[in-house]
Amino acid sequence: MLLLKDLKKSFRGFTLYVEGLEIPDNSYVVLLGPSGSGKTTLLRLVAGLETPDAGAIYIDGRDVTKSPVWQRDVGIVFQNYALYPHLTVFDNIAMPLKNRKLPRERIAKRVRHIAEILDIQDQLEKYPHQLSGGQQQRVALARALVKEPRVLLLDEPLSNIDARLRLEVRGFLKSLQRRLGTTVIHVTHDQEEAMALGDLLVVINNGRIEEVGPPSQLYSRPRSLFVFNFLGLSNVLPASRLGLGGNEHIGFRPEDVVVGEGRYTGNVARVEYLGPYKVLEIVFNDVVIKARVSPHLAVDEGAVVRFDVEKDKILRFPS
Ligand code: ATP
Repeated sequence: MLLLKDLKKSFRGFTLYVEGLEIPDNSYVVLLGPSGSGKTTLLRLVAGLETPDAGAIYIDGRDVTKSPVWQRDVGIVFQNYALYPHLTVFDNIAMPLKNRKLPRERIAKRVRHIAEILDIQDQLEKYPHQLSGGQQQRVALARALVKEPRVLLLDEPLSNIDARLRLEVRGFLKSLQRRLGTTVIHVTHDQEEAMALGDLLVVINNGRIEEVGPPSQLYSRPRSLFVFNFLGLSNVLPASRLGLGGNEHIGFRPEDVVVGEGRYTGNVARVEYLGPYKVLEIVFNDVVIKARVSPHLAVDEGAVVRFDVEKDKILRFPS
């Protein structure tokens, strides 16, 4: 339903180029990549806040490349929420409908409806500075959703919320998307957030899309070495270091290393205790291999251990 075709946008020293990206209806899409990779630029192009140098954007088959923001049927929530400080919560949420010149009773009805969905119906008379960060975020969401957009664009919406509340809001965003059936494009640089939320991940690196796929596929069977390294802890080394054939590099996850038995013997250089598991750094054949083990495994720094790698989990990447 959302299609980007040969889309190009250059700033001095940076070019974003999207050859083709198709985003299905009713899906939660997470745009993931390092700082400066072009995530926000891509979102702003879809919103109509930036004009592309070339290429086209289609929503439901309609070419919106030259349409202004208000004709695109998109809602946007910025990282800092960008609420109007001198307006009440009610007026903040009502703003997009007032711009459309809807009758006053209809506006009030829709504002109350969306406020109830987001559980801020008791905050409507307050001003933004009287709200907590999480409540401000829900007001920003309500304002973006009140016109029932086809596409909801979220730019790092969880970054201003403390870690504990973030988990809760994460679940809330996903169930809200399911309930309303909106297509969401959510920008983040946090790989855990991306995997938890996305039906589809779009990984972007240096202005190019590296790979698109469901989280489980990109985590365990990525085509791109960049994606493999970006989504969680990884081991990458020449195949020859483990005595495996071929000139390529191999990659495997720390949880696919078996410790305590196996073909290889190495030295434990570091043990990191992380609560539900431990990460070991095992030095073997001049390389460091990260292994994820049970927190109950008794192993100290300096220990000599046998280990192996689950064969069917090994990925091969061209050198
Ligand atoms: P972050 O995670 O840090 O927000 P990002 O992936 O969202 O990064 P963008 O904000 O899209 O990255 O920026 C991509 C590149 O484009 C950066 O090098 C940035 O400096 C540049 N850029 C973005 N907007 C402009 C602009 N209006 N004028 C000039 N350069 C810009």
